[in-house]
Amino acid sequence: MAISEQDLTHLRACVELAREAFDAGDDPFGSVLVDAAGAVLRTDRNRAGSGDETQHPEFELARWSARLPPDERAGCTVYTSGEHCPMCSAAHAWMGLGRIVYAGSSEQLSQWRASWGLPAGPVAVLPINTVAPGLPVDGPAPELEEELRALHRAAYARSLRR
Ligand SMILES: [Zn+2]
Repeated sequence: MAISEQDLTHLRACVELAREAFDAGDDPFGSVLVDAAGAVLRTDRNRAGSGDETQHPEFELARWSARLPPDERAGCTVYTSGEHCPMCSAAHAWMGLGRIVYAGSSEQLSQWRASWGLPAGPVAVLPINTVAPGLPVDGPAPELEEELRALHRAAYARSLRR
């Protein structure tokens, strides 16, 4: 499935949440959970700045979805500023959630980080479908690439000052 205008609207909200996370001292990632009818059920942003590095918004939304019946979960789409990491891909799949749409890929982020001289992270960079086969996944959205790159660059620059 291609990324529609409606998808882009939700992705832009994810980037705004990522900016909110950055402004709060957390890593710049944001996600939105949307039901089959297109209603936004829940939003969240990264909260890893406090020291709990597992506070990813995709993980939080997957856990939150436990209150929904399984058939409703399957109809949900999770939009996210950065592609799910393996932890979040697994949580999403365990909960039986539906489609994922991301603005920036994990591959892009790891390339940006490498270009800034950062070492690889502690978790392998795996596409969502390697962790969760058969899940409908769309991304990246080239429209948002520059904005995302700048946001991650700013977060990197800030990390040097800490
Ligand atoms: Zn994650």
